[in-house]
Amino acid sequence: MKMPGKNVSTAGRLSADEVALREELRVNVQKLAREIGERNMWHYAQLNAAADFIEGSFSRAGLHLRRDDYEVRGQACHNIEAEIPGAQPEIILVGAHYDSVFGSPGANDNGTGVAATLALARRFASAKPKHTLRFVAFVNEEPPYFLSGEMGSTVYARRCKERGDKVSAMISLETIAYFSDAPNSQTYPSRGLGFFYPKVGNFIGFVSNVQSRALLRRIIALFRKHAKIPSEGAALPAFIPGVSWSDQWSFWQNGYEAIMVTDTAPFRYPYYHSSNDTPDKLDYDRFTLVVSGMQNVIEELDRL
Ligand SMILES: [Zn+2]
Repeated sequence: MKMPGKNVSTAGRLSADEVALREELRVNVQKLAREIGERNMWHYAQLNAAADFIEGSFSRAGLHLRRDDYEVRGQACHNIEAEIPGAQPEIILVGAHYDSVFGSPGANDNGTGVAATLALARRFASAKPKHTLRFVAFVNEEPPYFLSGEMGSTVYARRCKERGDKVSAMISLETIAYFSDAPNSQTYPSRGLGFFYPKVGNFIGFVSNVQSRALLRRIIALFRKHAKIPSEGAALPAFIPGVSWSDQWSFWQNGYEAIMVTDTAPFRYPYYHSSNDTPDKLDYDRFTLVVSGMQNVIEELDRL
């Protein structure tokens, strides 16, 4: 199912709130990708430093937080959750993985997703939402844990199911800050898709499996109501390369509806999974428009 977007190539001007948001995102990404750097089970102290930074950010915002622990070969790993209780038990969950792949400082993948999650959590910290809002930073998304039982989000989503948590919408923020206006800067996992979608990597992508297409459609419609950046959406079978490549997969495995927001990572970003995935490669203006757009989406999703 294709949900074509408007072909607007220029990002709109940033509002005063967005200028502040851009600075916050920049600081968060620098902290994760420059100061802490590569963070994974081979760089375990850094992985824990990232967890501490995330926890500190949640608690400074006055959020109620919880560490969701499990062990990988005797070493403790932590998903970090901040919850804003709502009037209803239905949960809107925004999440991003905070580990980086081996050999990479992970600025775009996924310092950007975490930076956005922290900034969004701060903006909802004093809200009185209808739904319960959860902001979660997941550990161990990258190989060798990727799509395995030891992936942080898999452990987390399984526990949600066991507790009977009513997660009505899961939004996975995965590599969201690289944009290009150059011709043919956008590629696709199959030539068939390239036929239908833009060849310029200037848009933000929304992706889901077929089962989550109603949620995907709702979120794209809400995003486009306010957004100042082009968007494209696709509900595709989960076996198409890229569709399952993040934490939304774990929620699908446990029967929840979930979507991924992404700049399409390997299909656009030249520094994907490399030592050059550094903060200077990112487009902070368009990154900001994605995050402020998602703030509107969460506000409106909560009212539905
Ligand atoms: Zn990633």
